[in-house]
Amino acid sequence: MAVAQMPGLERRLKAELPEVHFDRFTRGRYATDASHYQIMPVGVVIPRSIAQAEQAIALARAEGVSVLPRGGGTSQSGQTVNESLVIDCSKYLTRILQVDVAGRRCVVEPGIVLDELNRALKPHGLWFPVDISTSSRATLGGMVGNNSCGARSLRYGNTRENVLSVDAVLPDGRAAHFGRVTSDLSAVDASVRPLAQRLLGLAAREANEIETRFPKVQRRVGGYNLDALLPGNNDPNLAHILVGSEGTLAFTTKIELKLSPLLGSRAVGACHFGSFHEAMSAAQHIVKLGPIAVELVDRTMIGLASDIAMFRPTLQQFVRGEPDAILLVEFGEDDQEENLRRLRRLEELLGDLGFGWDKSGARWGGVVEVLDPKLQMAIMELRTAGLNVMMSMKEEGKPISFVEDCAVPLEHLAEYTARLTDIFEKHGTRGTWYAHASVGCLHVRPVLNLRLDKDVKAMRAIAEEAFAMVRAYKGSHSGEHGDGIVRSEFHAPMFGERLVRAFEDVKDSFDPNGLFNPGKIVRAPKFDDRELLRYGPHYRPQPMTTRLDWSAYPGMGGGFQGAVEMCNNNGACRNLSGGVMCPSYRVTKNERDVTRGRANSLRLAITGQLGADAFASDDMAETLKLCVSCKACRRECPTGVDMARMKIEVQAARAAKHGLSLHERLVGYLPRYAPYASKLPWLLNLRDMIPGAAALSEAVAGFAARRALPKWRSDVFRDDNESSWPGSSRPSTSSSWGKDVDARHKAGHDGRDVVLFADTFNRYFERENVDAALSVLGAAGYRVHVATPVDDNTRPLCCGRTFLSVGLIDEARKEAERVLAALEPYLAHRIPVIGLEPSCLLGFRDEIPALIPGQASRRLAAHAFLLEEFLVREAEAGKLNLALRPVGERVLLHGHCHQKSFGAMGAVEGALRLIPGLAVETVDSSCCGMAGSFGYGADTIDVSLAMGELSLLPAVRKAAPDTLLVADGTSCRQQIHDGTGRQAIHVARVLAMSAAAARGM
Ligand SMILES: Cc1cc2nc3c(=O)[nH]c(=O)nc-3n(C[C@H](O)[C@H](O)[C@H](O)COP(=O)(O)OP(=O)(O)OC[C@H]3O[C@@H](n4cnc5c(N)ncnc54)[C@H](O)[C@@H]3O)c2cc1C
Ligand code: SF4
Ligand code: SF4
Repeated sequence: MAVAQMPGLERRLKAELPEVHFDRFTRGRYATDASHYQIMPVGVVIPRSIAQAEQAIALARAEGVSVLPRGGGTSQSGQTVNESLVIDCSKYLTRILQVDVAGRRCVVEPGIVLDELNRALKPHGLWFPVDISTSSRATLGGMVGNNSCGARSLRYGNTRENVLSVDAVLPDGRAAHFGRVTSDLSAVDASVRPLAQRLLGLAAREANEIETRFPKVQRRVGGYNLDALLPGNNDPNLAHILVGSEGTLAFTTKIELKLSPLLGSRAVGACHFGSFHEAMSAAQHIVKLGPIAVELVDRTMIGLASDIAMFRPTLQQFVRGEPDAILLVEFGEDDQEENLRRLRRLEELLGDLGFGWDKSGARWGGVVEVLDPKLQMAIMELRTAGLNVMMSMKEEGKPISFVEDCAVPLEHLAEYTARLTDIFEKHGTRGTWYAHASVGCLHVRPVLNLRLDKDVKAMRAIAEEAFAMVRAYKGSHSGEHGDGIVRSEFHAPMFGERLVRAFEDVKDSFDPNGLFNPGKIVRAPKFDDRELLRYGPHYRPQPMTTRLDWSAYPGMGGGFQGAVEMCNNNGACRNLSGGVMCPSYRVTKNERDVTRGRANSLRLAITGQLGADAFASDDMAETLKLCVSCKACRRECPTGVDMARMKIEVQAARAAKHGLSLHERLVGYLPRYAPYASKLPWLLNLRDMIPGAAALSEAVAGFAARRALPKWRSDVFRDDNESSWPGSSRPSTSSSWGKDVDARHKAGHDGRDVVLFADTFNRYFERENVDAALSVLGAAGYRVHVATPVDDNTRPLCCGRTFLSVGLIDEARKEAERVLAALEPYLAHRIPVIGLEPSCLLGFRDEIPALIPGQASRRLAAHAFLLEEFLVREAEAGKLNLALRPVGERVLLHGHCHQKSFGAMGAVEGALRLIPGLAVETVDSSCCGMAGSFGYGADTIDVSLAMGELSLLPAVRKAAPDTLLVADGTSCRQQIHDGTGRQAIHVARVLAMSAAAARGM
């Protein structure tokens, strides 16, 4: 990680450009892509315009520093890491400059993400059809850089076939347009004509060699595309030399793309095979029917997916028996009748090939038709999820991508996969196959631990043997993910020395001084140079003390190291819409504010690569400042990186080292002073009544003056005051059940006992929600016990969340211990524990087991339910006896992040649907932005409001006045109120209204 300091460059860049970073934390976040390499860049520039990018390039050239253009940084081969000045296009260079609907073309800047582009094109009935798996975060500049290929490349080709022209800045600073060329070069800018002549001359000179040595498979993205300029090529295009050049020739500023009409109805045939080998043999015949995709899911993937609850129903709908492999064959002609005809021909074909449902062993098989578009989509998601599960293995060894990209002619696919499996076995490892059978490009990643010298040696041996085999089949070693560091070294054996010299000529014609991304495609380092590996010889995790349970992972800090290392940089957290992860990135678009950036900073910090004490440093605090602990990453990150939990460790380390600010004290200790505050509510509420008091609280305690604080009240919910509980609907209750041994012996056997946990927020600020829950449970005939402390302290129970949020782990543990002690008698009888505030109740499933691992917390986790989860479960079991009447026609529902993270949204939707005549619409929202105390912080309120504006607040404003607004989270309700003036309510209150209506009240 030694990096030359470039103070001159830093000074000059900072003098001229607004977003320039040379600090270790930022550089560290740009030192990796989705490969297993790590190279610390010199610095990072985030240009706000193409002109600023040009300025940065000019200054780098003047200072003799190389330049690395970067998009989403999702490359798998190490092409997006270098000891260079990184220019990140993904934040601002994202405009669509032109859309020509009739001509089916558009012009874009390089930083636009594919999904964003396709969202904008959809209303025109068009799309850019290179549908790569990373479409949610890959930029068009990166796709052009890598010549990316989608699942439907059989129909649409690779990126190269869909790029009409490219505008770029050359290494000498000239801007140039690259597009179609005629033999007289009349359409070429005069300034680039000599370059064009040289390239065409080079292609002509090497025509024979290209003809002989370039693999004749569709999936060949290795080397430079000299074949695009061969004499006789009827559509030579200079831009195609830049496509796949991995940022080594020029900096792309504008891309003209060919667009396609959106796909209409499709027909999918899920071809089942009793033998993987037979499936591979069949692929060559299947493609003759003209499908647009043939994707492989093997037995391992099916097994992995069947372990995921949300995918089990999908599998049940299309998997028959126990196939060894399934080929998902998709037909996408304009005419659905034609698709159906082809589907039938597919069935006949499998019969002709000797497969049948009635046969056994390798001959068993057949086609399951999938015509429902929803199921078609679900199946594709399932394939991706299977890969994610594979990537989420928690051992030190991980599936490593280096031979995952080979493509062979289809007639050799079966033999190739069998022989490669043998090679893996020979080297003591294994791999799972998936992806693009249609083009002979099957992904497979052997599991290796690159910290071990022996596994690095195995990687070389596997690569050499695999590539030699691919060469013998006249296949391509670089079929999708590009050359980078992984494959450039192997160009000599693949293409021959002569063509490698020709590639060097291409590089030198553009970039004689090696300004752009040196050492990729040509003059590359050894791919197994351990100095370049992320887990290289100097990778040394430091001993560290952690406070939570990380034992599911290997490594230092009781496993914290392994948990951090789960991030493989695939960038799914950079998704800008859909899903929930990562709300802070969606607002700032800073690499610092995305799960990946945070995980990389943590990994570098705990291994001493960011200097002493980086873990508890201010830079680390800044890195995590905008993490709202929404836990979306825990669910949506393909490898389950749980940043919310990691943040607790950082907060704890900081609290131990620096103590707490007044703001943090006021937030953390709220449950401790709440009983006193509720006795003097008028005093505490003065802050939002006396002019100037809010401003003072901002100056002194960091609470944003613009935001009103929750209102204290004296009529709080009290465990010991049953007379204040809801009147006529009052259930059979007891607040002292935990202490009453006789009652305990009697109860719990008829399944009608439940215990309600009244959390701090609802207890002190919105007791109406606790009352509503009591009244609903009472109306449904449950005996409700309210959880009360069993120690001598009369202070109400608390889940400990506020303490965790400021790093007071010991205090949180004390609260958790009180909760466990109080609930233990109920849990011993398996009596469900019911809560209302998602972040508190779901902490029983997450943080409490992490604080106090063991049987007691596991039992609590298993029996803790949100009110709606409990009711829906009872309803599904036919045990809910709750009369409900209509209370309105529509409800707009916003889910708390933790409800989404724990898959609890279906329950709240289900509970609302129990009410007759109520149409439930769920806002497609990420975090509301309030996130506990986050929205109250003077330094975080702007981001908080911006998060709310992403989707939730606009959706609420659009809702009709008579639409009920439901949000279970206290802070979500506050954000909705502050942002729109409208009042959302807890689902318990809607249910209580409906139950009261049924009772004629
Ligand atoms: C889980 C996973 C699945 C993937 N699936 C696919 C797949 O289905 N198909 C596929 O083809 N790839 C796939 N990839 C690889 C990768 O996502 C794609 O190649 C993607 O197009 C890269 O886009 P990016 O914006 O992340 O590019 P980056 O990684 O940022 O850059 C890619 C290259 O382009 C260069 N570059 C970027 N911007 C510019 C510019 N303005 N000017 C010049 N050069 C530039 C960079 O220097 C680099 O060499 C996958 C990767 C992962 C991690
Ligand atoms: S945090 Fe998760 S989603 Fe983000 S890059 Fe890392 S592994 Fe991928
Ligand atoms: S917890 Fe939420 S805000 Fe924090 S990194 Fe994960 S997704 Fe992003």
